[in-house]
Amino acid sequence: MIHKNVIIKGYERVLHIEHEESGLDAFIAIHNTKLGPAIGGIRCHNYATTEDQLKDGLRLSEGMTFKNAGAGLNYGGAKTTINATKLKDRRLAYQILGTQIDMLDGLYICAGDVGTTVEDLFKVKDATEYVAGITLDSSLPTALGVHTSIKTLLNRDGLKIKDQTFTVQGLGKVGKHLVDMLDGKIEAYDPFVTDLEGVTHIEESKLLQGEFYVPCALGGVLNGFSLATMKSKYICGSANNIFDTRNDIINVHGTGIKYVPDFVANCGGVVAVALDFEKKKHKRALTTKLSNRINMILDISKDEDKPVQYVAEQLANDRLKT
Ligand code: NAD
Repeated sequence: MIHKNVIIKGYERVLHIEHEESGLDAFIAIHNTKLGPAIGGIRCHNYATTEDQLKDGLRLSEGMTFKNAGAGLNYGGAKTTINATKLKDRRLAYQILGTQIDMLDGLYICAGDVGTTVEDLFKVKDATEYVAGITLDSSLPTALGVHTSIKTLLNRDGLKIKDQTFTVQGLGKVGKHLVDMLDGKIEAYDPFVTDLEGVTHIEESKLLQGEFYVPCALGGVLNGFSLATMKSKYICGSANNIFDTRNDIINVHGTGIKYVPDFVANCGGVVAVALDFEKKKHKRALTTKLSNRINMILDISKDEDKPVQYVAEQLANDRLKT
């Protein structure tokens, strides 16, 4: 077993864990615990390089700090990234990861994320109590939060969900719940889901041509290339890190495109996971609060002529300073 501390400026603790027998290759990135123990999911993904895996973990864990602080939770931000291409014995790998999380003594509470199953989380739980929301389908509260965010965004312009056409990218766990909840017209692209009832399946190239774009698949979808041809006027979905670079945030500002920052729109899942960890009920925990928060962010952005994303980050950062 190799267990190394990696020193990264701006991060409280980053661990690189490699375990030969199970093929576990994981980074645990703890970004900030100012507000409390860090909560963040375990992402298991086919990373091409160790650098990509580390970079993803760092970006996602910082995002969790904003997400948790902004949502009013007394938890910090962290994330684990596992390189799926190296796994040999998956069950053992997750158990070993659990022992490493246990050694952090409550500094980090893990949960599910893309590529990690309920069964994987039970293996983690064999080794540590610091795992939350194992049997909770966090994609449902996440979709509820996105639905609230979409409704709030449209309400500001006097529009209603039922009169809109939504272009959804990704019909996975969140995307499917959202399609069920949105009573407007739905068009969607997902390379692996091509026959969902009630959905007009479109080509990938049409994703940014509709009025309301709902990214529920990958990050980095708003970049120099996509923004050059984008026709959508509204953006709000569950995907994390939708802006490819900080420059793209600036480029969107002033174009008239209206959006809810990803970490604000998709906070429903982590709110439910945090409440589950505290053994509290989570049903509809955040709807009104979320709507008020979005209106505040959008009002400040307008009044101060600042990118919406920056305002949301600033408000989350303010909590870290108190
Ligand atoms: P998921 O893995 O269940 O679904 C992702 C879907 O995207 C899959 O159906 C996949 O086929 C599709 N996809 C992959 N590449 C695509 C592409 N290029 N274009 C269109 N579709 C593509 O994941 P999920 O749980 O539904 O999460 C979706 C997004 O929301 C992720 O970015 C995730 O990080 C984020 N998110 C999820 C939660 C949650 O509670 N599940 C919480 C916060 C954020």
